[in-house]
Amino acid sequence: MRSAARSADTITVPNSPREAVLSGPVAVCVDRPLLSLDRPFTYELALELGAGVGSLVRVPFHGRPVRAWVLGPTDDVPERVLKVRDVVSPVRCFDDRGLEVLRRVSERYVAPLATVIGRAIPPRVASEERAPAPARPDLGPPANGARSDGRLHSYRNGSALLDALEGGAGTFVVRPGPADEAAVAVACVGAALEGGRTAIVVVPDADPVPATAAAIVDAFGEEVVLFLGGDKRERYRTWLDVAGARYRVVVGTRPAVFAPLRDLGLIYVHREGHPQHRDERSPSYHAREVASMRGEVEGAVVALSAFCPSMEASAREHVAVEPQGRPWAPVEVVRPGPEGRSPRLVRALREARSAFLFEPVRGYGVARVCRSCGEPAACASCLGTLRLERGEIRCVVCEAPGRCASCGASDFGVVRRGAERVEEWARSVASVPVSLLGRDDAARPRGGEEVLVGGLDALKDLGPRALDLVGILNADASLHRPGVDARERALAAWFEAASWARRDGRVIVQTNAPNDPAIQALVSGRPDRFRRAEAPRRAEAGFPVGSPVFRVSGGAELEAELRALAPRTLLVSGVGDATICLVVLDPGDVGTFGAAMRRLAGRGVVTRVEGEPHL
Ligand SMILES: [Zn+2]
Ligand SMILES: [Zn+2]
Repeated sequence: MRSAARSADTITVPNSPREAVLSGPVAVCVDRPLLSLDRPFTYELALELGAGVGSLVRVPFHGRPVRAWVLGPTDDVPERVLKVRDVVSPVRCFDDRGLEVLRRVSERYVAPLATVIGRAIPPRVASEERAPAPARPDLGPPANGARSDGRLHSYRNGSALLDALEGGAGTFVVRPGPADEAAVAVACVGAALEGGRTAIVVVPDADPVPATAAAIVDAFGEEVVLFLGGDKRERYRTWLDVAGARYRVVVGTRPAVFAPLRDLGLIYVHREGHPQHRDERSPSYHAREVASMRGEVEGAVVALSAFCPSMEASAREHVAVEPQGRPWAPVEVVRPGPEGRSPRLVRALREARSAFLFEPVRGYGVARVCRSCGEPAACASCLGTLRLERGEIRCVVCEAPGRCASCGASDFGVVRRGAERVEEWARSVASVPVSLLGRDDAARPRGGEEVLVGGLDALKDLGPRALDLVGILNADASLHRPGVDARERALAAWFEAASWARRDGRVIVQTNAPNDPAIQALVSGRPDRFRRAEAPRRAEAGFPVGSPVFRVSGGAELEAELRALAPRTLLVSGVGDATICLVVLDPGDVGTFGAAMRRLAGRGVVTRVEGEPHL
C-alpha cells in the first residue's frame, strides 16, 4: 500500500504482448459505425496473416469486403464462420488494455465501438507505416528531482499525490494556487517519470499553446511530444512514434487521452472543466471521463486540475490537493454603478499600472428599439437579438446584417453594454494603455503596463500575470445564462480571471447579489461552498450531478420503450414524426440502457443516441 489513494476497487487489466499472433476463431469489430451492428462478429483468422489484437483486417460482411479490427479470441463460434481475408496494416491499433478503455467509452456513451476506435486513433496514412521511424533519441536516465520543485509538498495532500505517482493509482482533484498552475503539472509529470512510468497531459486548447504545456516541454525536452493540431500525416506519424515508445510524455488536446503510451503512470487533465474537453461529435466523450476509465484500467494516477474544480470532478471519489492557506488576492464585492461602473472600480483602475477587466458580453451594445417604426428590435431573418460589434449591427443567432423584423430599417437605439464599451470607458479612466483581447489575439508579454479587457475568449492559460487589479463585470448576467451548468461555468471563469491578479493585488467583482453562493465562493476562495448550494438545485431540476444524460431520437414507440426502462428523468418532445427524448439515468443503469438502445436501433425504434448533450 503506497498511499491512501490506491483505492481498493482499482482494477488493473492485465495486458498481453502487443505483437502476439492469433489464429482460429476471433471476434472482430466491423467498421460500420451503427448501433444496430455494434456487437462482435466471429471470423476465422489464419496464423500466416500474423494478425492479433488491434490488427486492422478485411473481412467479408454481407457479401462485401469491410475493414474490421481484431478484438481477440472468442468462444462464440456460429456454425458457419467466414475467413478473415487479409491484413490491411501491420500496425496494431490497440492492445488489450487499450481495447478495454475503448469498450468502456462505447458503453458509457452508448456509441458504436467502431465510432470510438475511429475517434481514438488518428486517420491512417499508409506511407508513414512504410517510412522508417526516426531514430529514437537516447532518453537518458529518468527525470530527476530538479525538475519538480518542492511546492507540491507544501500542498494539503501533495505528498500523497507524489507518493501515488511513484507507482500507485487513484483520482486526485488538484487546485493549484494562481501562480502554481504550470509548476504543479510539471511536478506531477516529473514524479511519474521518476517512478519509471509515462505521463499524458490533456490541455483544452492548442492555440496559443497553454503556458502549462510549454512549461512541460521546457522541463522534459526530448522526452515530450506535443500532440496538438498538425496535418493528417504529422498526426499519424506522432501517433506511430508514441506507440513505438519514442516518448515518455504526451501533451495534447482531447484525443491525447487515448495516446498509446505504455507503462502509464499519470493522466493529468489541465483545466478539467473547460468546455473544449468534451467532443462535439459522437461519442461526445469528455476527456475527464476517459481519463478516469483509463486510469482504472491501467492502474495510473488521474489528476484533475482546475482553479475551480467542476461539480463532476468533485462528485467522484477523490483526494483533494490544494495549497494550505490562501494564495488568492482578496476579493471585494461592490454594486455596479451607473452603466456597470462602480466608483470603487473606477478609482482602482485609475491607480492600477496593470489590470484586466473581465466582461463576458461581447461587442459594444445591444439594439433595443427600431428608430424607424418604434418596435422592439429583432432580427428580420430569425427574430434573434441584434448586437453592435466592431461598428456593425448583426444578429447574434444567424449573423445576418441587422434589419428590423417589423419594417426592415437598419437604424436602432442601442443600449451600451459589452467588452467594446468597457474598453471605451476604461480608456477615459486608466493612466496606462487599454486594449481589447479578442479570440485571435496572441499572448502578450508579461509585466506590461496596460489594461486588458476581454471575455471568455481571453481566459486562456497564459501563465501567471501578477496584475495589480482584476475587475469582474456583469457577474449577474453570467449567473443568469441559460444552461444547467451556466452558474458553475461563470464561477470557473471568475476564478480564472482572478488568477491574473497578484496575491497582494485587488479583485473587484460587481454584483447586485453579494450573497449568491457563487459570489461567496469567489470571495472566500472556496468553491465547495458553491457546490453545496448548487448540488440540490441540479437534483431538483432533474439533472443530479454525476448522473448520465442521453438525448435519444426515434419513432413513435420510443417514449413507451424508454418509460419501460424507468429512468430517473424523462423529458419528451417531438419534431414532425420524430420523437426526441432527454433521459437521465442512475450511473449504474447505463449498461442496461445501452443494451436496450442497441436492440431498439436494430428494430428502427431508435435512430440516434447522443451521450451528454449540451443542456
Ligand atoms: Zn437572425
Ligand atoms: Zn422598424
